[in-house]
Amino acid sequence: MGNTQIKAYGATSVTTPMHEMNITRRDIRPCDVEFEILYCGICHSDLHSIRNDWGNAVYPQVPGHEIVGRITRIGSEVKKFKIGDLAAVGCIVESCQSCQYCHEGEEQFCEQGVTFSFNSEDKISGGMTYGGFSQTYVCDEKYVLQMPAFEDLASAAPLLCAGITVYSPLKHWRAGKGKHIGILGIGGLGHLAIKIAKAMGAYVTVFTSSPAKVTDAKRLGADAAVLSSDKEQMRACPPQDMILDTVSAEHDVNRYINLLKVDGSLVIVGLPAEPLKVGAFNIIHGRKSFSGSNIGGIAETQEMLDFCYRHNIVADSEIIDIKEVNTAFDRLARGDVKYRFVIDMSTLK
Ligand SMILES: [Zn+2]
Ligand SMILES: [Zn+2]
Repeated sequence: MGNTQIKAYGATSVTTPMHEMNITRRDIRPCDVEFEILYCGICHSDLHSIRNDWGNAVYPQVPGHEIVGRITRIGSEVKKFKIGDLAAVGCIVESCQSCQYCHEGEEQFCEQGVTFSFNSEDKISGGMTYGGFSQTYVCDEKYVLQMPAFEDLASAAPLLCAGITVYSPLKHWRAGKGKHIGILGIGGLGHLAIKIAKAMGAYVTVFTSSPAKVTDAKRLGADAAVLSSDKEQMRACPPQDMILDTVSAEHDVNRYINLLKVDGSLVIVGLPAEPLKVGAFNIIHGRKSFSGSNIGGIAETQEMLDFCYRHNIVADSEIIDIKEVNTAFDRLARGDVKYRFVIDMSTLK
């Protein structure tokens, strides 16, 4: 068969808009599957990467790491999939498989560093990996998720990055019945965190700086919503076991650390560009933890997909044509989306 030329959408430099281009996918190896991409979510990391905000962008670059599709070819040794099955790929497409963390199913912490699904050194084919703004994907089945048949399959795509990013810490810090879980910020991550923490059985309080989002928080299932600029509301808030901080702009974390119970944790999943200031007094009193979390492993991502399917959780999303992708990135940069864009990849013909 050999390698396959396919259509994709990407940028050739930091200053050029994304446009249609041709890329090559490797021929399938015995352990690989190939799938036709049906939907691909747009995550903030795609925006950072295409605009080289982190200084590691390589061009041409094809973003997209919330990839949902249908299997078109399988290698001779593939066990998990057959042709026609739904499949999905998130952030991770390769890891060493021999370090402690790979053995424990926490590939995201692989000692050798993982290969990401886009803009990452491709250790198999050379060059860089190209993401899901494209017609097909080829991946070792170990890193391919079995995608449940969500009624709204398009809106399930953001679970592959945003979903696991919030599910993993909520599970790690044992969100559940009898626990007060705070969610700081309502965006792509925060809105899914509300739904997932609620489904886990926790009492969910949302903290937002926007009065309009107080109503939205309730609609999304939150038990309480606190306007963070209102000192009275902040003071009246019951102590929290854990606060998941999804804010990616500069903000004062100490105000939220002060809302934690003894042994409570503030867990960062947003990525503010500047270092955050944590007061020693704020964490010493009450033995509090200031912590972070980064996506999740493959097994946990599968568990999250199955959990969301059982609880009917998908992202609130706006489905777009691939030709609208540059406008969507501009809108995402302004925070003008409720709450996730998903590209209908059948529009890339
Ligand atoms: Zn992402
Ligand atoms: Zn490893």
